[in-house]
Amino acid sequence: MRKIDVHIVADKIKQLLLTSNTDLPQDLLILLKAAEQREESRLAKFMLEQIVSNAAIAKENQWPMCQDTGMAVIFVDIGQEVHLINGDINQAINAKVAEAYREGHFRNSVASPLERVNTANNTPAIIHYQIIEGDQVHLKVAPKGFGSENMSRLYMLNPTAGAEGVVNAIVETVKLAGGKPCPPLVVGVGVGGTVEKAALLAKRSLFRPVGSPSDDDKLAKLEKTALARINDLGIGAQGVGGITTALAVHIESFPTHIAGLPVVINIQCHAARHAEDVI
Ligand code: SF4
Repeated sequence: MRKIDVHIVADKIKQLLLTSNTDLPQDLLILLKAAEQREESRLAKFMLEQIVSNAAIAKENQWPMCQDTGMAVIFVDIGQEVHLINGDINQAINAKVAEAYREGHFRNSVASPLERVNTANNTPAIIHYQIIEGDQVHLKVAPKGFGSENMSRLYMLNPTAGAEGVVNAIVETVKLAGGKPCPPLVVGVGVGGTVEKAALLAKRSLFRPVGSPSDDDKLAKLEKTALARINDLGIGAQGVGGITTALAVHIESFPTHIAGLPVVINIQCHAARHAEDVI
């Protein structure tokens, strides 16, 4: 059994939150720059230039790239041969999330759902734990802004809706969102399972290197079809019209009940902040 101090895990998460809010990942930057190059609309080209230059300024000064520094979404995959020691992992992580948001001068964006009282330290974080093989802890962190999260949707499709029904749901979600979620988007999709499983698949899919196709050939084909149809909508960067409404569609799937076909579409804006590490 490998012993890992919960404070080492929490410290690592703090670092990932600090860097992910200020450094846009390379995978995304490459796609944004390519979109800027091929954009035909002058206004959309300008928007993409602004997004790329904003990312450079944020990185250089270690400033957050957007005023919405998000809710901290954290996936902690724990090897079954790991024994976490020295305290409560939830408390340790939340304490470091609060520290990261204070030290990074990030906006505190978390409030009670009905009273709307701000918790004043951006906690609690949304923490998903999963047991995996081995003796390592894999961490994935994403500050999730709500301009895009608010545009996400759940469909409980007819079980016979098939691939076409799934693509229609994805395209409809993006169409209804319009310019609100700050396109160009990364569209995360979970197909199958139950309501919560589909939502988790969609969220996890956003951590794939942006634009990397699914390992499953059929899903990879669906991703391509959905992306082409989304970009035909003409919403464009920041909703000003143009040929790039989304940079990528990532689909993950899981077996589901014979009587249903859950589909969750989790919309991610161009500030697709994500970072990961292994302990
Ligand atoms: S949707 Fe994204 S880019 Fe737009 S305000 Fe929210 S976090 Fe920022």
